[in-house]
Amino acid sequence: SVTRPQDVEDARLLLPIVAEEQPIMEAILLNKVVVICGETGSGKTTQVPQFLYEAGFGTPGSDNPGMIGITQPRRVAAMSMASRVAHELSLTSSKVSYQIRYDATVSPETSIKFMTDGVLLRELATDFLLKKYSVIIIDEAHERSMNTDILIGVLSRVIKLREQMWSEKKDDIKPLRLIIMSATLRVTDFAENTTLFSTPPPIINVPARQHPVTTHFSRRTASDYVSEAIRKASKIHARLPSGGILIFLTGQNEISGVCRKLEARYSRKAIEERQRKRKPVPREDEYGSIPLPKVDPTHADVEAEDVDLGVEDLAIDVDGDVADIDVDMDALDSDGETETNEELGIDAEESETPMHIVPLYALLPSDKQMRVFEPPPSGSRLVVVSTNVAETSLTIPGIRYVIDCGRAKERRYDVTNGIQTFQVSWISKASASQRAGRAGRTGPGHCYRLYSSALYENYFDQFSQPEILRMPIEGVVLQMKSMHIDSVVNFPFPTPPDRHNLRKAETTLTHLGALKPAIGGVIGQAEITEELGGRCHCSRCRPRILEDEALVDEESDAEEPEDLSHLTSEDVRAKEARKIRRKAFFESQALHSSLGNNTSDVFRILSVVGAYEYAGGGHKFCVEHFVRPKAMEEIHKLRVQIDNIVQANFPDLDTKFSKNLQPPNKNPAVRKDIVEKNSSGGRQYTTAKGIPYKAMGIAEDVFIHPSSVLANEAPPEYVVFLETVRTSRVWIKGAASTLPA
Ligand code: ADP
Ligand code: MG
Repeated sequence: SVTRPQDVEDARLLLPIVAEEQPIMEAILLNKVVVICGETGSGKTTQVPQFLYEAGFGTPGSDNPGMIGITQPRRVAAMSMASRVAHELSLTSSKVSYQIRYDATVSPETSIKFMTDGVLLRELATDFLLKKYSVIIIDEAHERSMNTDILIGVLSRVIKLREQMWSEKKDDIKPLRLIIMSATLRVTDFAENTTLFSTPPPIINVPARQHPVTTHFSRRTASDYVSEAIRKASKIHARLPSGGILIFLTGQNEISGVCRKLEARYSRKAIEERQRKRKPVPREDEYGSIPLPKVDPTHADVEAEDVDLGVEDLAIDVDGDVADIDVDMDALDSDGETETNEELGIDAEESETPMHIVPLYALLPSDKQMRVFEPPPSGSRLVVVSTNVAETSLTIPGIRYVIDCGRAKERRYDVTNGIQTFQVSWISKASASQRAGRAGRTGPGHCYRLYSSALYENYFDQFSQPEILRMPIEGVVLQMKSMHIDSVVNFPFPTPPDRHNLRKAETTLTHLGALKPAIGGVIGQAEITEELGGRCHCSRCRPRILEDEALVDEESDAEEPEDLSHLTSEDVRAKEARKIRRKAFFESQALHSSLGNNTSDVFRILSVVGAYEYAGGGHKFCVEHFVRPKAMEEIHKLRVQIDNIVQANFPDLDTKFSKNLQPPNKNPAVRKDIVEKNSSGGRQYTTAKGIPYKAMGIAEDVFIHPSSVLANEAPPEYVVFLETVRTSRVWIKGAASTLPA
């Protein structure tokens, strides 16, 4: 039996899913696979694991002794949900644990384990039967990430195997159950796909207990949605009654910027300072209560600009792309209010109620992330500025107003060249509705969309496409092969990529030497080559570093408005300080760019990483070099991890791995015709005399010094050298060809 704190017991009774415990458990016990759909906040993530735990799952000696495993697409969610469920069950973090890439609280006692989907995929590579688990819950399946889709495909087969082994009474193996949870009803790809599950799994719909949310479109779509979000939050704060505000933006830079600006105006400290400067005004109660509403929340749409004026005022060329539209928007904006007037507009409605401003994004340290669940100090208004982490993964209590910028940063792949970018793009209608729904958890709410209804109607897809269909197919095949999934063509994808393309990708990869040709030529059975096995780990890890944007952290600062007139002297000082910091930032950038002769971002990253490792890490280094400590620490761990993988697989190989990288002590140079196609080719010459080279960190062409042994030889493609001599030209001395003759 379990004991829960009284406040938890009370809160649970309000969750719609708790009323469904019995039908849910019946379905789970009678079926190997069950799909559960329920609105965000209905209690899926926190309660379903508890239902299972109470029914004996995850308890040694029971019918289902294996752990309860729950996957999450984001680390934030894995960590915070583990600690919430531990709290609800009054259990320790070694009983209800989490595991993410580099951090875990799991122990031999663990009964309920939250993990990222990547962690479970890696476990499958070493234990395909997942013997440690009796049930796996795939959460947030509606997001359709590539990992989720692959997991569901693999698990459909693991379940069959476990069932088979159990009926044959092999190795004391018990059946495995699978629960797929989704915040939307769009689950046919899982439930009605007979290749995936030959018997369609039952779908349980948890009735939503959602209060009405009034949606307000903007009359026009502002391209500067960040400023627009600040304006809107200020207006809500000044005019509308108590209730938290949740702002959806696309990334850390925007979020930090908005938090900083809101802090400067509405933090308790800023308000106190303003009040000290002003003539003291008698106030009844400094912070005791929120000022009386000026507008009834149910009539909040009286704000003129929030009334949806429909599509007439915006003639959108449906064939034009989004970028063009934004230009048009700017044109429209310019005959509206000017920046300054808008700024004044905010000043005019400054509120005396402090805001409690909390950022939320994946890279935020976990203790800071948990702040969203704490009630704000009394008399202040909670303002959460978040990425789409808050769209379905985390339910933040007390939100009544949502500001939706309509965009999200998405990993995109150029299917033709396989290059990955993070791109800000419009969200889907389904996402917009999820975001709006966040305002209706505690009572009737309002969602302010910073885009027009015309844009929404014409440019928002109904649903976002499964990630697997947006990936270059070769990447999908390689990733799956590296997970020892041999038959990619016959893999039970929830939404299968084109079979013909899968075959073609396999052939291409075989030609490239990435896959071993299949025995007897059976396509679909080719295996990943050993050499690539190691590299695959590297390439799979790479996106994480780039995603961390370690090097572009402060760039968005450059967008500060130049109008300083309304700033107090303190603000000006802060502004100056930022200017100095920005200068230091560009200097640091220039320093690190010089490693690649200002031609390579990869070298710039390498330079920072090298310097960080040489310095032995540390927070101070990160501050001075404008990189994120969390990202750098991860890069370090990743280097160690990759080396361990290589060492484990190739024990005889000396990887020359060193924990503290030495700075490069030899200078490499490359023959100019190799890097610049149109410069004179070196091949026509019999000696290296007069042949230009490009050296790292040197802007001009360099030449092998006539005294060098290499000067009279055919010019090598690459050389390393010890020193340079500047005369009419830059000569390199102490040169050595990198390839021994
Ligand atoms: P779902 O998974 O269906 O979206 P959850 O199980 O995540 O729902 O959330 C159920 C309820 O539990 C929500 O009302 C949410 O506010 C609350 N909750 C979740 N985590 C915490 C936490 N760390 N602190 C306080 N309340 C929480
Ligand atoms: Mg959830």
